[in-house]
Amino acid sequence: MCNNGLLLIFSGPSGAGKGTVLKELLNKNHNMKLSVSATTRQPREGECHGVHYFFMTNEEFEEQIVNDKMLEYAQYCGKYYGTPSVPIMNWISDGLDVVLEIEVQGARQIKEKLPECVSVFVLPPSLEELEKRLRARNTEDEETIQKRLTIAQKEMETAKDYDYVIVNDTVAHTIEQINQIIAAEKLKVCCRESVKERML
Ligand code: 5GP
Repeated sequence: MCNNGLLLIFSGPSGAGKGTVLKELLNKNHNMKLSVSATTRQPREGECHGVHYFFMTNEEFEEQIVNDKMLEYAQYCGKYYGTPSVPIMNWISDGLDVVLEIEVQGARQIKEKLPECVSVFVLPPSLEELEKRLRARNTEDEETIQKRLTIAQKEMETAKDYDYVIVNDTVAHTIEQINQIIAAEKLKVCCRESVKERML
């Protein structure tokens, strides 16, 4: 694992601002890759196939599951979401850090399979702020917003199972905290072992 990159998992309720933070983080870290998930939900305005998601039919997604092509997958709001395994494994063994933005069931599956992954839960500053951000996106109808808010409350109860929890108050502060987590993880004994091996 030592010369490998980190596998960083970010979860948090829809509307916590993970997308904005991670976009900025990836712009500033050239050694980092964002996993493109597959989903059966409809593309939102401006979303492109292969960039934001691989948009699939139910049949296509289920074929990927049967052929063991997903590192993890889950159902969220009645739609499938999953992480294609191949790019992740290649990037990690090339020494790149890989970022996954996934919901809590998928995060749990990966932590079980790959306990060395680093999991971070991103909280909104408050539930009121979460609802405000979700509405400001203007991409979901009222029923979906209500569903997402209900799921958000349940998801926040799982924050304690993550390695780190951060509150996304401002993008700059959140990125600073993520960079501190990455720096600390890279100094962990298992990573320093490889340095020791090289020195001996
Ligand atoms: P959205 O529909 O807002 O793009 O995403 C809904 C939820 O699905 C978010 O919590 C997002 O993090 C999660 N999600 C996105 N991709 C994946 C994935 O590959 N696997 C899992 N388990 N969740 C995902």
